[in-house]
Amino acid sequence: MFLDPKLPQKMIEWRHHMHRHPECGFDLPLTADFIAKKLESFGIETVRGIGKTGIVGILRNGTGNHSVGLRADMDALFITEQNRFAYRSAHDGKMHACGHDGHSAMLLGAAAHLAEHRDFNGTVHFIFQPDEEHGQGAQAMIDDGLFDRFSIDEVYGLHNMPGLAEGTFTVRPGSLMASESSFEIRITGVGGHAAMPHKGIDPIVVGSQIILGLQTIVSRNLSAIEESAVVSATEFITNGTVNVIPSEVVIKGDCRCFTEEALTKIRDAMERIVAGTCQAAGAQYGFDFRNTFHPTINSPDQTTKAIAAANAIFGTDNVISDCHPLTISEDFSSMLRVKPGCYGLIGNGTGSAGGCALHNPNYDFNDRVLAHGAQYWVQLVRDILL
Ligand SMILES: [Zn+2]
Ligand SMILES: [Zn+2]
Repeated sequence: MFLDPKLPQKMIEWRHHMHRHPECGFDLPLTADFIAKKLESFGIETVRGIGKTGIVGILRNGTGNHSVGLRADMDALFITEQNRFAYRSAHDGKMHACGHDGHSAMLLGAAAHLAEHRDFNGTVHFIFQPDEEHGQGAQAMIDDGLFDRFSIDEVYGLHNMPGLAEGTFTVRPGSLMASESSFEIRITGVGGHAAMPHKGIDPIVVGSQIILGLQTIVSRNLSAIEESAVVSATEFITNGTVNVIPSEVVIKGDCRCFTEEALTKIRDAMERIVAGTCQAAGAQYGFDFRNTFHPTINSPDQTTKAIAAANAIFGTDNVISDCHPLTISEDFSSMLRVKPGCYGLIGNGTGSAGGCALHNPNYDFNDRVLAHGAQYWVQLVRDILL
């Protein structure tokens, strides 16, 4: 390990402090202030309030004009913690159940090391973003000038992964994680007596045909080899009753896929099916398709750099460089749409030592992983900013 021997213990203390005081969404006054003050204490120029509570720390060294952005997330979840250890959440109904306390502590550790040793040539931006869990924080920082106010050539992100052994790292070039979209289809027919359906336009029949039509999107619009996706209708709501044909049906659901192209195909095919089916029946419709998370798509060159840094820290036997894509989603995807970059996953451990699933009330970030993550960040900076 090349970190200062005292740094791992400091990172543990920082993480426990953030774990004890979880905050959610954009409402992160204590967490953001804690992180900004730490960056300032390392002598790092710190800009607050980007995308409401986001922070950027800027560290320059040497004459190099290349610049890298390292990103951590700061927000917790609306979960009541069931852990009983001393640093458990002191904020009722809020908990760091996704390890963003660990992500922030690891990036602070890397910042502390790089500010002291300055063994790189160029500029490092330490990006701490709010509201990852609802998929809004990255775009809020971008809209507030993250990539205009700061010259950032490439961006990197890191998430812990329970069930993956400590001291391991996994990544893949291209699509790593899925998009997440929701849809709402509102069908307006003509309701009436259940005994005389010919006098109305039954939106239940129209809606049923639409749901069956939605099943053809994946099976008949996407390549079985190149594109995987899920389209699920999850709610079917009517204003009818036992002897009344409703006048309105609302269908809601959820979609996941791995490329922007597939996302566009799904949205367009869905609207065609809704419009065509409603027109055939003489019903009216409303269609709303909301994309919460884009697919997380790693750039090939930056993934090669991430793998090289991970190999140096974890050893080639402990780095998986072509893992399967995951159906979970990640807000860092918004940054990857603007800048080349790479998102990697670091082992949080297995079994009782770090294996509890993310978003579980018994989850906790594995403190032994903090030094792994900080070293990965430092290695990546040294490799890129020569
Ligand atoms: Zn999460
Ligand atoms: Zn997370």
